[in-house]
Amino acid sequence: MTEKRILSGMRPTGKLHIGHLSVLDNWIKLQEEYKCYYMVADWHALTTTFDDTGDIEKSIFEMVVDWVAVGLDPEKSAIFIQSQVKEHAELFLLLSMLTPLSWLERVPTYKDQIDSFQNNGKDIRTYGFLGYPLLQSADILLYQASAVPVGEDQLPHIEMTREIARRFNYMFGEKVFPEPLSLLGKTKLLPGIDGRKMSKSYNNEIAISATSDEIWEKTRMMVTDPARIRKDDLGHPEVCTVFQYQKIYNEHEFENIEALCRQGKIGCFACKKLLYEKLDDMIKPIREKREVLLKNPDQVKAIINSGNQRAREKAMKTMELVRTTMHI
Ligand code: SF4
Repeated sequence: MTEKRILSGMRPTGKLHIGHLSVLDNWIKLQEEYKCYYMVADWHALTTTFDDTGDIEKSIFEMVVDWVAVGLDPEKSAIFIQSQVKEHAELFLLLSMLTPLSWLERVPTYKDQIDSFQNNGKDIRTYGFLGYPLLQSADILLYQASAVPVGEDQLPHIEMTREIARRFNYMFGEKVFPEPLSLLGKTKLLPGIDGRKMSKSYNNEIAISATSDEIWEKTRMMVTDPARIRKDDLGHPEVCTVFQYQKIYNEHEFENIEALCRQGKIGCFACKKLLYEKLDDMIKPIREKREVLLKNPDQVKAIINSGNQRAREKAMKTMELVRTTMHI
């Protein structure tokens, strides 16, 4: 039977928060069905943080700690660092020779991200940033991945990867690359504590490394129904961020909370306390496992070394095939 492989990754641009957990839960499940390669995408991080690399080493290490603490199993999956497998760069270069410029320019996120960075005073119109979807294609094709877990915003990137695989296979008359399928995960959209998109740059996130005090502080600051001043005011949970969290993290009680809120029979402070307990229960085991890993950096380094080695083995085999096929 052919081995089914998955490639996925995250950019090490800061501490993971609970908004990342549904993606990671999906990765954990995929370990049972696929041979998984999970990559800390440090070269991708450089496409926007090329002028600020001082913390990248620390961020890479912490990302691996977070992944393992959440439940990724380094025995089952290769957890590796993109820049430690140089074949990513070689395949990126070779594919860049046969990728029409227009394919990159039409990627929807290209213009959106340039505008959004421009609004914050940063110019990211570099050769590297234009090429980042192609680097992503090279990442995927290097492992001859049969599928890629993605969110909806990533679908055009996977479509482009499929086109590149087809173009390469057709041009050189060999089926070197399978066309990867998109596995659209059921990710729960979690807002930040102020109701906007959860992001470290808004300081509205709850980190998966948060202490109990930090979790309470963030929960206490969450925005609620602005029309509720007193406890007995009738509430509108549909406009309340706390309630969105209750629906995800307090599935046995949220219906009761909704009814009590509408009748003005529960205060927002008490409601937040209930949510805080659920969040703390969820984060506590992750936090404890993180602490153990942070006290054993050699164990984390061994996980990374072994993941790099396993990723390299597969990457080297693919590149031998690519070079033979291209006669170079
Ligand atoms: S009681 Fe709970 S759901 Fe209702 S407005 Fe307050 S925090 Fe939101």
